[in-house]
Amino acid sequence: LNTVVESLTRAPRNVQFPVKNGRLQSISEIFGENVFSLKEMSKMLPKPVFKKFTEQLKGGRSMDKPTADAIAHAVKVWSIERGATHFTHWFQPLNDSTAEKHDAFLTMKTSYANGFEETTAIDTFSGSQLLQSEPDASSFPSGGMRTTFEARGYTVWDTKSPMFIQDGPHGTSILYIPSVFISYNGEALDEKSVLLRSSEIMIKTTLEFLNLIEPADDEDHPRAKHVYTTLGTEQEFFFIDRALYTLRPDLKIAGRTLLGGLPPRHQQLEDHYFGKIPTRVLAAISECEFELARLGVPIKTRHNEVAPAQFEVAPIFEESMLSVDHNLLTMDVLHRVAHRHKLKVLFHEKPFRGVNGSGKHCNWSCATDQGDNLLDPSATPETNYRFLLFLVAILKGVLDHGDLLRAGIASASNDHRLGAHEAPPGIISVFLGSQLDEVLNAIEEGRPVTNYDDAHMKNVRVDGTVLDLKVAALPSIARDLTDRNRTSPFAFTGNKFEFRAVGSKQSPSFPVTLLNSAVASALQEVNAALKKQMGKKSVASDADKLVVIREFIKKTKAIRFEGDNYTDAWAAEAAKRGLPNIRKSVDAFGCILKKENADMLKRLGVFSHAELESRVHILTEKYAKDVTIEAQTLLTMVTQQVLPAAYQYRRELAESASAMKNIGVESTPEIELLNELTPLVRNLQLRTNDLKNVMDEMLKVEELLPLAHGAQKKVIPCMDAVRSLADQLECLVSDKLWPLPKYTELFLNI
Ligand code: ADP
Ligand code: MG
Repeated sequence: LNTVVESLTRAPRNVQFPVKNGRLQSISEIFGENVFSLKEMSKMLPKPVFKKFTEQLKGGRSMDKPTADAIAHAVKVWSIERGATHFTHWFQPLNDSTAEKHDAFLTMKTSYANGFEETTAIDTFSGSQLLQSEPDASSFPSGGMRTTFEARGYTVWDTKSPMFIQDGPHGTSILYIPSVFISYNGEALDEKSVLLRSSEIMIKTTLEFLNLIEPADDEDHPRAKHVYTTLGTEQEFFFIDRALYTLRPDLKIAGRTLLGGLPPRHQQLEDHYFGKIPTRVLAAISECEFELARLGVPIKTRHNEVAPAQFEVAPIFEESMLSVDHNLLTMDVLHRVAHRHKLKVLFHEKPFRGVNGSGKHCNWSCATDQGDNLLDPSATPETNYRFLLFLVAILKGVLDHGDLLRAGIASASNDHRLGAHEAPPGIISVFLGSQLDEVLNAIEEGRPVTNYDDAHMKNVRVDGTVLDLKVAALPSIARDLTDRNRTSPFAFTGNKFEFRAVGSKQSPSFPVTLLNSAVASALQEVNAALKKQMGKKSVASDADKLVVIREFIKKTKAIRFEGDNYTDAWAAEAAKRGLPNIRKSVDAFGCILKKENADMLKRLGVFSHAELESRVHILTEKYAKDVTIEAQTLLTMVTQQVLPAAYQYRRELAESASAMKNIGVESTPEIELLNELTPLVRNLQLRTNDLKNVMDEMLKVEELLPLAHGAQKKVIPCMDAVRSLADQLECLVSDKLWPLPKYTELFLNI
C-alpha cells in the first residue's frame, strides 16, 4: 500500500534542459551535437582523406590504412574533447537488442632513454581498431552456425552509419562505432548485415527500374543516380511507475503481466488517445527527445495511445538503416531516461490483457537523390506511371511473400497482440484506400476512374490505354482522402506503406530486410516485363508501361483488401483467395524456409542457406524459451503469492464465520464467500499442477520444433487456465491481502 501511495504522490523529475546565453536551447540547436557527422568529418579531416571516405561510402569496397588511421585519429580527438574514455563497436546480435564491449583508449608505451626503461600511459586509437574488433561470438545466438564455424566473430565498422558518443558515468562519455557482426567465415551473426544486403539489392533493382522507364537525358527530370529506402518507425510503449513494477515478478521477468484483470474503467471511454500527456510522462519523454536530438535522432511526434498508460513517439523518417539504428537508440534512451523518472518503460507487445497492445508501425518507402518519393503519386503523368509500376511491384512482392513477411514479425510476444481484435491478424493483405483501389480497378478494366466524391476530382478520367494528364492530381487525392484502415497489416498511407503488424519490442531490421527483399524480387519481375514489352527501345513508352501495370494489377488482385481485417468474413474470404492465415508464430517461422521464400532470399544474396536455417533455429528457440520462462514465472507467482493470499483470506473468513457462530449467528455471508472461494482455490491448485506436469514433460523434449509446438499447444493453454482462475480470485480476495499491484494501480498511478 505504501508503494501505491508513494507512486501516486511522486512529483515529476525536474529536468535540466540545455541553456545557452541565459535561454533554453531549442532542439534544432543541439541536434546531432553528439554525432561524428559527415560535416564534422569534413571539418576535421584533410580534404583528400575526406574525399576518399565519401567515395568509399558511395560503394567503393575497401578503405586503405592511411584513410582509416586518419579517421580514427580525428574521431579520437573529437570524442576525447567530449569526455570519451572508451570506444565500443556497437552491434545488433540476433536477440532484438544491441551489444557493446568497451575498450579504453589507454595504451601503455615503453620507451628507453638514458638507459632507463620508462612506461607511460597514452591514449591511442588506430585505423585497424576503428575498422574491426573481435568479440567472442560464442555467447550470442548463432542458431547452430557456431558448431559449423569457429566461435570467433568480427564486428566491422558500418561506415554508412555515423559514430556518436553517449554519456558514461560522471561526465565522461563513450564513443560508439555502429558495426556489423559476422562470423569468422563472413556469415551474418546480426540483423544489420542482412539489412545492408537487402538494401543493396533494392537499390540496384530500383535504379535498373528507373533506367528502364526514364530517359537519361531529360533535363527537367534528371534520372536518379542513387536511391534509398526510407523508414519511419512509430514506437508504442507503456510507462508504469517503477516501484509498482518492481512488485510484479511477471513484468520484471517476462515484460508482461501473466495475471491480472481489467479495472472497471480502462480504455472504453476512449479518453486516453491523444489526451493530455501526464506531467511525469511528459517530463520523461521530453528528456528523451533532447538526449535523442543530441544523438541525431529526429523525434517529431509524441502522444497518448489508446490504452491507459500507453504512449507513442515517432521520428521523422530517414534512410532505412539509419532509421533502424535510431529506433534502437530510441528504445535504449527511453529505457534509461525512464529510470531517472522512476518510471519503467514496457516495450512488450501485450503487457496487459484486455487493453490494446503495442506495435511498431514501420512506414516504408523509396526515395531518390532527386528528392522524389517513388510512392508519392503526385506530379506528372510519367511520375504516375513510375508510381503505379512501383506500387504494383510492392503488391506483387507482398502477394508472393506474405507468409515470409508474417514470419518477420512473429514472436511469442507479438502472438498475444496479432489478431487480438485491435491489431492486424495473421493474414497479410494490402490496403490501398478506396481512391487508389478505384484507380487500379479502372486501369484493369480499361474504363474511366469514377467514384471520387470530391467535386474537383469528378473530371479525372483514364482513357483505355493512356492515363489522362489529369490523373497527375491523383496523389493529392490519395494523400488527402486516404482512408485510415487501422485493421490492415500493410496499408498505403498517402505516400508510403505502413507495415503495422511489426511488434513494438522487436528490432525493425528483420521485417524491413524481408520487405526490401520481397519488393526487390517483384521489381525484378516488373523490370523483366518492361524489357519484354519494350523490345529494342531503350526506354519504355507509356503504352509499354500501361501494359505492364495492367498485367500486374491482374496478377495481384488477391492481396488487396479494403474491408475490416478483424472480421471472420475476411478470414473466410482470404482462405478462398488462397492467402495464408498464419495465426501462430511457430508456424510462421517455418515459412522462412519454404522454397519460394528461401530461393528468393538466396538468389538476391540477402541470406545464405546456412544463415536462413540459423535464423529459423534462433527464432524457434527464442519462442520456446520465452514461453517456458513465462510458465515458470507464472508457477512461482501462483504458488508463492496467489495461493497463499487465497489461503489467508479463507482463514480470515473461516475465523470470522466461527466467531459469528459463537455469538449465535448461524448463516453468515462469510460461509457463502468461502463456498465460492474453495472450489476456485481447488481448481487453481489442480490447473497449476497441470502446468507443472506439462513443464516437466517439456523438459524431456530435446528437439527444438516439437518443443516450440509443445510450448504453443500445451503450455500456453495451461497458463491460460491458471490465469483465468487466478484472475477470478483477484476479484474475490480482500484487496489488503492481494500481493500484486493491480491493473488499476499500474494504469492510473503516473
Ligand atoms: P500516422 O497517422 O500513421 O500516425 P504519422 O505522420 O504520425 O502517421 O507518422 C508516420 C511516420 O511515417 C512518421 O515517422 C513519418 O516520418 C513516416 N513517414 C512519412 N513519410 C515517409 C516516407 N516517405 N517514408 C518512410 N516513412 C515516412
Ligand atoms: Mg500513428
